[in-house]
Amino acid sequence: MPSRDAPEAPERATVLPAALANINSKVLDDRALRKLVDPDIYNAFEQCRASGRPMDKKDANALATSVREWAQSKGCIGYSHWFSPMRGPIHGEKLETFMAVDFETDELIVNLTGAELFQTETDGSSFPNGGLRATHEAAAYMGWDTGSSPFVYGQTLYIPSAFVSWTGEALDQKTPLLRSGFAVNEQGLRLLRHLGDKESKQVVCNVGWEQEFFLIDREKYLARPDLVATGRTLLGQTPLCGQEQSVDYFSKMSPRVRRYLDQAREQMWEMGISIDCAHNEVAPAQHEISPIFCLANRAADTNILAMEVLQDLAFDQGLAVLFHEKPFAGINGNGKHNNWGLNTDTGANLFVPGDNEHEDRRFIAFVAALLRGVNKHGDLLRCGVSTAGNDHRLGAQEAPPAIITLYLGKLLEKHMKKIAAGGEITGYGKEEKFIEVTPPVADIKANLEDRNRTAPFPWCGNRFEFRAVGGNQHIAFPLAMVNAAMAESLKHMCDQMDAGKDVDEVIRETVQENLGALFGGDGYSSELYEFAEKGGLFHLKSSPEAYQELTSEKNLKLFTELGIFTDREIHARQNVLLEAFATELWIEARTLLDILQTRILPVAMEDARRDDQSGFSSKLLSEKKDLVQQLLSETDKLSEAFLGFPEEDPAQSASYAQETIKAAMDSARAAADKLEGLVDRRLWPFPTYSELLHEHQ
Ligand code: ADP
Ligand code: MG
Repeated sequence: MPSRDAPEAPERATVLPAALANINSKVLDDRALRKLVDPDIYNAFEQCRASGRPMDKKDANALATSVREWAQSKGCIGYSHWFSPMRGPIHGEKLETFMAVDFETDELIVNLTGAELFQTETDGSSFPNGGLRATHEAAAYMGWDTGSSPFVYGQTLYIPSAFVSWTGEALDQKTPLLRSGFAVNEQGLRLLRHLGDKESKQVVCNVGWEQEFFLIDREKYLARPDLVATGRTLLGQTPLCGQEQSVDYFSKMSPRVRRYLDQAREQMWEMGISIDCAHNEVAPAQHEISPIFCLANRAADTNILAMEVLQDLAFDQGLAVLFHEKPFAGINGNGKHNNWGLNTDTGANLFVPGDNEHEDRRFIAFVAALLRGVNKHGDLLRCGVSTAGNDHRLGAQEAPPAIITLYLGKLLEKHMKKIAAGGEITGYGKEEKFIEVTPPVADIKANLEDRNRTAPFPWCGNRFEFRAVGGNQHIAFPLAMVNAAMAESLKHMCDQMDAGKDVDEVIRETVQENLGALFGGDGYSSELYEFAEKGGLFHLKSSPEAYQELTSEKNLKLFTELGIFTDREIHARQNVLLEAFATELWIEARTLLDILQTRILPVAMEDARRDDQSGFSSKLLSEKKDLVQQLLSETDKLSEAFLGFPEEDPAQSASYAQETIKAAMDSARAAADKLEGLVDRRLWPFPTYSELLHEHQ
């Protein structure tokens, strides 16, 4: 090896690229807020945050004035509470300005009061509410989630908020997530106390999401009525060149995509979203970005904001972004892995094996609780990832199955089995793993455990990765379900310890009783189905089937005892989910029918007529003609199925959509997709998969 002399004095480069100069400039995080206001006001704000008791009016007004002045200095002329109704991953906003009237002088003034900063009111019956609100009893409120920082986007100051009805019931995605976080905190602290921890005052849930998406040309997107109406292609032959050669995964981004993503990232950094990683994904035109983890409620907000930045910027640059779980058949769809972990305010990570016996035991205790959570409440985790879109993904050869199991890695699995058989609780993870490559590559320090990308919920050394979440989901609900499962298990363990049972015995029994959810194999193989059957695990094949479980006796007890949902709230949410599922399928069927009747069939029949006129005959031509006939009759069947859609009961509509509509759509699509490969391309009424996926890059 040639050796180089060390330089005499190290040189330091200190130039900051423009893209890094403005990070955090548009987010009013605690650090920025502390600088803006008097210490007394800041303390009062912190007390309000901790207790949920409103700030004194004078202090709140002073806080609001500082917040407004800060926002004005960033170009804002108004503000809006930023909330997440029970619908897809799009926020709600009601734009208000800093205008006010001084009624003594009748003059227009610029102002923001404390009351305006902390809350606003609107009509809650026009959002999906599952029956919680009636048209004539409609009031609902947005209240600032002071745990998620306000930010400036465009000329507006946005204030992340919870959204509840006048009766105090949750109408949004955030409130149950916040409540489930409190449940984990309460039960987690109980367990920590039993384990001898007297210092910790809080257990928090951290989340790092990974957002997958497709980027395509906007003109072509607009030329596809299915993409515009439903977010996915309802028709289309697989592309001539798909993901067969694995050339897209982590490949170099095209200059156009790179420019777009660099700009999107810069905007996100300004608003305090810590995007850290970006890469090309498995399918052509598919990409992924992820930030560094943060508290779950803020992670849920930053995810929505990031999705919106991606969408807005795509519009500006002649692109369209697709988050749907399965925009194209035959190639991978979009997932959104949620890296979920628990930490204490004292800096401990509860999913890291420790340096001493106390930390070791704590790690195993919390893993045991999660194992029980997955075993007993796999139904809830499944519900958390159930949407019409995600049903296309789960269980296909790209995404974890609809059966939820825990993956810990070979060594930890072995250790858990030893514990179950009476072995020591502590002692896992003392060795280190290095991989020798060859000089000059330094030995690589590797994780003790291998990855399992077919597992729905694998351990990643310091957190668990909930991989089953869909790319187009609001992550608050799936995370609330994980928290709910965890909190109930922690409670179950602590109840026994409170009753005097030995801590180690409870841990051991918890492991013993729940090994049936510990699966280390290939989640794409049939082995999993046998495993699930043997262990009596939930296997809820479709979303409507999963939603039914939300109101089972077990789950009603769990939600109400932990304060996550009331009986009325969870029934309402179940209705909203069932209705959303049925409506999505209803729109899809209607769109497909429209496309077949007004675009595909006329073209296919015209093509067949020309064939007839040409006087030629061949196997190909007669196959084509048969297919046109087949498509005509499949379209008739779809039309009939569509007319039969039950309208009243959401559960009935959802199961009709699942059982009847889906099958009719699939049969019609099969015939149309075959025709796409046979009909004169010049007649085909919209861009093909190959054109959508390859031409913009
Ligand atoms: P992958 O290689 O699985 O695609 P990424 O590197 O894209 O993973 O994303 C990993 C995510 O996990 C990041 O958002 C990261 O910040 C997050 N993460 C890391 N440690 C923790 C933790 N302790 N708790 C929660 N999330 C974490
Ligand atoms: Mg990833």
